[in-house]
Amino acid sequence: MLRVKWEGTKSDWTKYNPEWLRFNCQCSQCRQPKSNQRILDVSLIPDRVALDSASLEDERIHVRWKCPEHVGYISVDRLRETADYVSQPSVCSRKTIPELCQSSVTISSETVIDYHDLVDQTARADAICLLYRMLLQNGSAIISEMPTVSGTVKTFVETVLQLPVQRTIYGEVFDVISTPDPINVAYSDAELKPHIDLAYYESPPGLQLLHSLRFDDMVKGGESVLVDGFFAAEELRRVRPEYFRLLSTVPVTFEKIHYDRKWPVHMTYRRPHIAVNGAQQITALFWAPQFEGPLFAPLEQMSAYYEAYKTFSKLIDTCSSRREFRLAPGQMIIFNNRRMLHGRKAFNDGGEGSRHFQGCYVNIDEFKSQALVTLMQHNKYPSVLPHVGNQSC
Ligand SMILES: [Zn+2]
Repeated sequence: MLRVKWEGTKSDWTKYNPEWLRFNCQCSQCRQPKSNQRILDVSLIPDRVALDSASLEDERIHVRWKCPEHVGYISVDRLRETADYVSQPSVCSRKTIPELCQSSVTISSETVIDYHDLVDQTARADAICLLYRMLLQNGSAIISEMPTVSGTVKTFVETVLQLPVQRTIYGEVFDVISTPDPINVAYSDAELKPHIDLAYYESPPGLQLLHSLRFDDMVKGGESVLVDGFFAAEELRRVRPEYFRLLSTVPVTFEKIHYDRKWPVHMTYRRPHIAVNGAQQITALFWAPQFEGPLFAPLEQMSAYYEAYKTFSKLIDTCSSRREFRLAPGQMIIFNNRRMLHGRKAFNDGGEGSRHFQGCYVNIDEFKSQALVTLMQHNKYPSVLPHVGNQSC
């Protein structure tokens, strides 16, 4: 057993298991230096290995194992980063998003980022860091002064966020505009209750961008609605813990079965509405009433499930995090589709008015990676990482 006492902390010694240390050796025999990928065949490590000695030098713990013999090292950073998990697996070091929202680092959700700053050589670094911090912490951000040109949303993802667009069954870029025979209820003038998109995918899109190209004054209604789903779920846990437990354990069916379209689709996916980790923190949310299929659950559980469902639905409608706004032409909303539920109020085009948004998606893990890389490059790496809703524990 290796024991480490961390300077400046009052906590106990962190203990490291010898096999854990052997599996995580970072020497060039165990990990390929450039790629940092493990090349050691860990299946060849005996069930019990023994430590011979360990010493600290150059920010590395140099370790000597015996039976079988090996000399390697593990960086202090890696030991520190994993200290909490190794010694106290039930405690997750990350704060939950509602905790983050209440902390002093919160950026006002009213903050609007000017598109010109994001494409300006000198203002760009600060603006892009602000955008990524808002998306990580608040779950959404609004960009103003965008050109009202079709296709700008895709160019924005590729050149400003420097990420690929996530292609789905709706293509790379989709037009949210009222049509007579919509392939999706979004492409009509009906009300859309708050939901996440593509809950029937194994990995629903991470970021969603909606760019307002046209929104005529004569169009009545059509305001966008955004609710922090994680916040609402925490509220459910607080007021009705037994309902929270049901919604995090009973699998429900999400489906998109539609043969009468250019690309016929038949997608079904079953899972609970709320995903939690071992410490019962929320790691993902799946809420899409418009795309629910039949519930397959034990008969004796059904009534309780529906009670829990309706309670959560009402909590979402009355949640204090709920925001309503009219997305003016040239404005774009970007939000984390895995955390923020989005919707729209019904609208009436007043005869000749038009409401036309263009949207696209970004994969959740690619977004998270790019946010961290960008913040790291500008020395603005967050001290606590929020859950982004990708189910990572
Ligand atoms: Zn090694």
